[in-house]
Amino acid sequence: MLRSIRISRADLRPNLFDELPIHSCNAVHLKLASSDLGPPLLSFLSEATKYNVAVHATIPLHELQGAEDLCRQDALGHRFPQHLCPSQPQVQELWLAECQTISAFFPWASLEMAGLGFSGSPDFYPSICFCAACMYGYGATGLVLEQVARENMEEPTEHPHPSVNTLLLWRRSVQYGILRLIHEAVPSPLCLKTAATIRYTGDRSSLSFQEAQGLAATCLVSWTTADPQKSREERTRLESLPRPMPVYAELPYPSDWDDSMAAAFSGAVFSFSEGTIRTE
Ligand SMILES: [Zn+2]
Repeated sequence: MLRSIRISRADLRPNLFDELPIHSCNAVHLKLASSDLGPPLLSFLSEATKYNVAVHATIPLHELQGAEDLCRQDALGHRFPQHLCPSQPQVQELWLAECQTISAFFPWASLEMAGLGFSGSPDFYPSICFCAACMYGYGATGLVLEQVARENMEEPTEHPHPSVNTLLLWRRSVQYGILRLIHEAVPSPLCLKTAATIRYTGDRSSLSFQEAQGLAATCLVSWTTADPQKSREERTRLESLPRPMPVYAELPYPSDWDDSMAAAFSGAVFSFSEGTIRTE
């Protein structure tokens, strides 16, 4: 069973590997960007190798920045500079280059890709992108979808318009295309990160575990709610989905850890590929 802690580049400490057994951890998920690659990281990785601890690289693709015309554009024409649109060929090239550079640095246990797909607001219609690349992808449905999104942003309705099916298909095909591109270009096993909410696993807005089969070696699901009832429902729903690869759950760090641990550790990952989730 994978039992990992998540740390960031700023949390690298020489005594980390002495502490791991205390928390029954056998792996580390290290969040980093290509700009972090250098000698201090190399010495950390050499310590990890000495202690026989697997290190997974977490690449926050959604935090990369780019030109404004590569960003999400809603139905009202507003741009969101913090959300690069994955339909844009230049964004795909940027993400691929980041994965290639990091993959070439060290034989990582896996490359965990966070934010590989469409980012948006929690509300569905305002999160739909209408940039030039997405409009091209929607084809003849684009103008209808844009009108529907505008109307829903002014007066939300509960029932999705049929044009939404085209959008969902486009989103999945874009995500699949980039995942395939990265899979073919890097030697590291890939881990696809997604969220437990139904928008990301189950409503066809992103790849299902089955659709990612053959490209992602593992999947990681993060929990976005602290509500125990909602969390139980999400767990039950996810456990019923076909999982052709190991799927891990990311949980908040145990609350009884002291402050320094809490600052250093942002998550714990436990396998539920055997049908159970370990919670502490
Ligand atoms: Zn777009």
